[in-house]
Amino acid sequence: MSLIAERLRAIRPSETKAMTARAAELREQGIDVITLSQGERDFDTPAAVCEAGIRAIRGGRTKYTAVAGIKPLRQAIRESFSCDHGLDYALDQITVGCGAKQVVFNALFASLDPGDEVVIPTPCWVSYPDMVALAGGKPVLVACDELDGFKLRPEALEAAITPQTKWLMLNSPCNPTGAVYSRSELLALAAVLRRHAQIYVLSDDIYEKLTYDADFATMAAVAPDLYGRTLTVNGVSKADAMTGWRVGYGAGPLPLIEAMNLIQGQTSSHTSSISQYAANEALSGGRDHIDEFVRAFLERRDLVISKLNQADGLSCRVPDGAFYVFPSCAGVIGKRTPGGKVIETDADFAMYLLDAFAVAVVPGSGFMASPYIRISYASSLADLTRACDRIIAACAGLS
Ligand code: PLP
Repeated sequence: MSLIAERLRAIRPSETKAMTARAAELREQGIDVITLSQGERDFDTPAAVCEAGIRAIRGGRTKYTAVAGIKPLRQAIRESFSCDHGLDYALDQITVGCGAKQVVFNALFASLDPGDEVVIPTPCWVSYPDMVALAGGKPVLVACDELDGFKLRPEALEAAITPQTKWLMLNSPCNPTGAVYSRSELLALAAVLRRHAQIYVLSDDIYEKLTYDADFATMAAVAPDLYGRTLTVNGVSKADAMTGWRVGYGAGPLPLIEAMNLIQGQTSSHTSSISQYAANEALSGGRDHIDEFVRAFLERRDLVISKLNQADGLSCRVPDGAFYVFPSCAGVIGKRTPGGKVIETDADFAMYLLDAFAVAVVPGSGFMASPYIRISYASSLADLTRACDRIIAACAGLS
């Protein structure tokens, strides 16, 4: 009998593991590795939010809370949905978890039976297919063309749907592409979903506040008739620089939220009480810091795009949101490194960038799309400049 459960066979080892291990090795050798692979911003959590956390500790708010989260936080979430999108949720339609990640997992685990299918447009966040598989469902990956801005076309959605389809996962702005769905693009997808009453929409809006040239839109607001079958997921990790506090939330149909709370009640119980008070401050204390973050990211994005498009073999479209760029590296595939190794995949290219030029990026294969690399621009302008110069030199070194 094996110690490790059979269901873990469906889970892929992390694509970035070898890269992360190699980056650590190089750092130990004293090499100045620039990391552009992180999914978190370099800004600190706003001071007022930290103070709220400290107040919670000093005030003894360190006990168990309600499984769905403290009421003032759910009230703040409710107001933010209402003010930002005109979405009306009752408090018991809102659940708070350990980051948006746990909320997505709870939703899948609460709803998927063996054989249920989940349509996932790719490139996609690394965790979606594995979470679906862990929950016993079947990920149905639908490749989205770069020429369509990496966005799901209604015809492709229609073609992917079967009687077993239970969820469509939408993530806008998208990790890794930065693609943002417009209102009309969501309406076109909604028209397909109306023909298939059994399908629910999981709208992962975690990068909502980080849009540049596009307006954010979310399915439950754009298509009110789909409100009753949409779970809208969001959180403070990305918008409020609070990744480590682990607070995310979901709002949707009551029976689903109740089932998600049931799972959470028997697993983590809830996220930290202290984090919940801090998140309440982030949501209700005015989010002026977001404008400052967006301005800084825009400057970084434009720098990275202009530099990467000078690199021989890379081509990079301008993403509308999040803090990633996803350049194609098709032009370097088949080329030889100065050491004589042929670059056959985006993973080979990423390893070359790391080994020879000490820049850590994530290969597109991790996001179910090749040949691309994902570069996070959540780093200082100085580091981004140095890193992009190294990438340009790396590309120039290939023959
Ligand atoms: N959804 C997407 C698309 C993400 O990229 C991430 C984090 O990288 C998450 C969810 C998880 O967010 P959290 O840190 O709140 O769990």
